[in-house]
Amino acid sequence: MKVICTKGCNKQFEKPIFKEKKLKEDIREIYFKCPHCGVKYTCFYTDREIRKLQALQRKTKDVKEFDKLKEKVTNKMNKLKENMKK
Ligand SMILES: [Zn+2]
Repeated sequence: MKVICTKGCNKQFEKPIFKEKKLKEDIREIYFKCPHCGVKYTCFYTDREIRKLQALQRKTKDVKEFDKLKEKVTNKMNKLKENMKK
């Protein structure tokens, strides 16, 4: 995965290192930083419920079930992201 630092130095870097930061009791932010200039990019947020769904997603071998869970996770992540902006 190649990333261009569009918010900062415009340099390209490979394989961003994803980090997790605890924001509130059960909310975590997943992000990475540009290794050249240190600008931070937020990827997504998770809460307890999302992490539970992700765990189920990893376990299931049923494609339909997987897609269903994926949709749920995406919806919840979007909602959470909206909430975090407030
Ligand atoms: Zn940069």
